Amino acid sequence: MALLQISEPGQASKPHQHKLAVGIDLGTTNSLVATVQSGVSRILTDEHGNAILPSVVHCGKDNKLTVGCDACPYAKTDPTNTIVSVKRFMGLGYKEVKDFKNCPYKLVENGNNVQFHTAMGDLSAVEISSGILTSLKQRAEKALGGDLVGAVITVPAYFNDAQRQATKDAATLAGLNTLRLLNEPTAAAVAYGLDSKEEGVHAIYDLGGGTFDISILSFQKGVFKVLSTGGDSALGGDDFDQLIIDDCIETLKLGELDPTQMQKIRQFSRIAKETLSDNDFAEFNCVEVPYRISKEKFEVLSKVLIKRTLLLAKRAVRDAEVKMSDIKDIVMVGGSTRMPLVRSMVSDLFNQPVLCSINPDEVVAKGAAIQANLLAGNKSQDEMLLLDVLPLSLGLETMGGLVEKVVHRNTAIPITRAQEFTTFKDGQTAMSIHVLQGERELVSDCRSLGKFELRGIPPMVAGNARIRVEFQVDADGLLSISATEETSGVKADVIIKPSYGLSDREMEKMLKDSIIHAKDDIKARQLHEMQVEAKRTLEAIDSALAKDKKMLTQAMIDDIMQARAELKAVAKNKNEKIIKEKMENLELVSVTFVEMRMNSTIAKVMQGHKVEDFE
Ligand code: ADP
Ligand code: MG
Repeated sequence: MALLQISEPGQASKPHQHKLAVGIDLGTTNSLVATVQSGVSRILTDEHGNAILPSVVHCGKDNKLTVGCDACPYAKTDPTNTIVSVKRFMGLGYKEVKDFKNCPYKLVENGNNVQFHTAMGDLSAVEISSGILTSLKQRAEKALGGDLVGAVITVPAYFNDAQRQATKDAATLAGLNTLRLLNEPTAAAVAYGLDSKEEGVHAIYDLGGGTFDISILSFQKGVFKVLSTGGDSALGGDDFDQLIIDDCIETLKLGELDPTQMQKIRQFSRIAKETLSDNDFAEFNCVEVPYRISKEKFEVLSKVLIKRTLLLAKRAVRDAEVKMSDIKDIVMVGGSTRMPLVRSMVSDLFNQPVLCSINPDEVVAKGAAIQANLLAGNKSQDEMLLLDVLPLSLGLETMGGLVEKVVHRNTAIPITRAQEFTTFKDGQTAMSIHVLQGERELVSDCRSLGKFELRGIPPMVAGNARIRVEFQVDADGLLSISATEETSGVKADVIIKPSYGLSDREMEKMLKDSIIHAKDDIKARQLHEMQVEAKRTLEAIDSALAKDKKMLTQAMIDDIMQARAELKAVAKNKNEKIIKEKMENLELVSVTFVEMRMNSTIAKVMQGHKVEDFE
């Protein structure tokens, strides 16, 4: 399946040179970086052997940025300057984040964007994230001993275009070349090699630190498609910590606690929770008093939370319009799926064992690394994977407010498609190119993505210019378009920014509308085409009269002018039949004129030639 090749200019390599590429899981709580070495993907650790980089960034005085483990203590001592869970802010505007609960930061509005007011000045979520990415990049370059050609960075499947673009911007700012953004569930599926299995539907259950995501993916003809996503952005490992905190406070009958004590209990509770995944008891000293909790008790408390995730998982399966029994594999992702009760309850729900042999907090980074290795060109093209499809058709406006689709919906991306267009008027030297997205026939019913102009077309007779418009959709769904007049080579390009993207809901509406209106749309299209044809006929006759009126008698001119006026009067009529009738009438009265012109052109061309020259 040699359908995808990404090669960056200036990065063409010698055939056997291994290029350094990494996969990055840019997580809400934790981030990781992985690479493929000798065919095996492995996590790269820091100089202390830590695999996980906490997604924590401290913005200190004197412009001192601290990332990861070293930044964690500041969350207690300097909370307003310590950004945790920055991922929750990515790609969101001020209005969307100002109501975030328990947000300790001073948020400032900057145009549409939001910034954190810190000791280092006002910083955006993109800038904070780029701090995390820089740290991972440095770790990787140190471990691998060279510069990276690029990275595959994972994002949640539900991330919209603005959130995806923000992630790419953060990478650029960190000096990382984004080979591709990859959906987290897809990365996990790739890590388990589900892409080398037969076609099927898979569920990816991801319970992280503060979020729960469930995705139903289908794998078909080499493409992973997200059938549905669900989850709860406020349900994760932290809530399980809270169960222990509450139990501790209740059991020990602790009264009011100061923030430092609270922070301590929180930290101990988290360790206790993690301990209980492999042990029957956990204990710690809380405010000088010993506290002990059994696995049994913790599991009784946990059940309610896990049940909530199961409900959401069932809903996602329903939204995907598949049956529970259609699910071939269940992939466990996220540190919290280390809890044995989570595994057993999920397994019971789907009535089959779950996949958890790969470390659940490493599986996303590992899958991303496999993809990065492919995209960097370290593997044969035959193993290339297509991972996405275009959600809505892309097309161009043509005469009469109609949309000509160039790339159809559900086409696997990346893709390049070209279509030829021509000029409408004699001597036309510019053409406006209007790019649209949607399934409907009329421009007014589709979504405008942008307009650009192709100028400098050499003057030619209408219909003679050959304008080739090429659409390129890259693996991240970003669109670039170029238009070239083939005979002269005149060219214009445009890149459509993904911030023009649509939310799932808007997309669904556009698709539904296209189905509801299909019949009306065809009628409207026919009428528009007739109106365009009428306009074209009028222009042709005007142009012919302007040049060759002298060939005609006054009576002939009068007849043509009469028919022309009648057509002109109805050219914009809503009745297709009337336009057709008047158009045919004009053609009829002009037949002799057309023949006379043709003969005179032939005569001109043949001057000085013998008939044989043309045979
Ligand atoms: P995210 O994807 O949100 O960045 P992770 O997938 O790294 O987060 O998950 C972090 C969560 O996993 C934390 O709440 C952490 O306590 C939890 N976790 C890690 N190891 C274990 C374990 N052994 N048992 C239970 N929970 C764990
Ligand atoms: Mg995660």
